Amino acid sequence: MNHAEPFLLLILSSPSGAGKTTLTRKLQERFPALKFSVSHTTRTPRPDEVHGRDYYFVSRSEFDALVDEGAFIEWAEVHGNCYGTSRVEIERARVEPNCAGMIFDIDYQGARQIRAKQHDAVTVFILPPSMSELLRRLRGRASESEEIVQRRFKAAMIEIAHYGLFDYLVVNDDLDMAFRHLEAIVLAERSRRFRRADLAERLLRVGQL
Ligand code: ADP
Ligand code: 5GP
Repeated sequence: MNHAEPFLLLILSSPSGAGKTTLTRKLQERFPALKFSVSHTTRTPRPDEVHGRDYYFVSRSEFDALVDEGAFIEWAEVHGNCYGTSRVEIERARVEPNCAGMIFDIDYQGARQIRAKQHDAVTVFILPPSMSELLRRLRGRASESEEIVQRRFKAAMIEIAHYGLFDYLVVNDDLDMAFRHLEAIVLAERSRRFRRADLAERLLRVGQL
């Protein structure tokens, strides 16, 4: 009998700087069977970013061609750049042995578009403990100019205003506590009845023999 974990689509969104990347990396260490969905973007890479690991970095014309081909399950313009999730990423993960799902680090527009197609996707919005702490974290990242920091800080209000699209709100004040909440969400979602009903039905069929 197959006791493999059910396949989970876990979407994480937050205003820029709230800690999504940090939490996503910790989640991947804890749940290596959850594959990180690598998005395409027209943004230029930050010094520590690797093509194919953090993003597929493409030109605007390459991105537009992918949109025209219908390659993206969702895409959006965020902070002046284009970002998209390719359908192939999800299709590949679904058939990959020992893959128990995917983690998406995408904005609220992408969360809404995936939710419209994948009804069982789980959506989590990460909140900063305060706006002043959000600004401090944006500045602390040091890879961006003050102009970009201010642009992302202003956009935070628009993103937070969309919290209603999400199943869970996790406050990232203390990092370990925020991580424990995320871990609890993954474990609880794996135990949702509809994700385990197949196993229950199989047990019943065997029992009838
Ligand atoms: P995002 O991916 O949401 O833009 P990052 O994960 O890059 O955010 O985090 C932004 C900055 O805040 C980073 O310098 C990170 O180390 C820091 N950070 C993340 N979570 C916390 C936390 N709970 N407490 C203090 N600093 C944090
Ligand atoms: P960053 O430039 O800081 O890596 O990401 C900026 C924003 O774009 C973040 O809110 C991030 O979640 C979002 N983002 C990253 N990839 C995608 C994607 O494929 N689709 C959408 N809609 N948003 C994305």
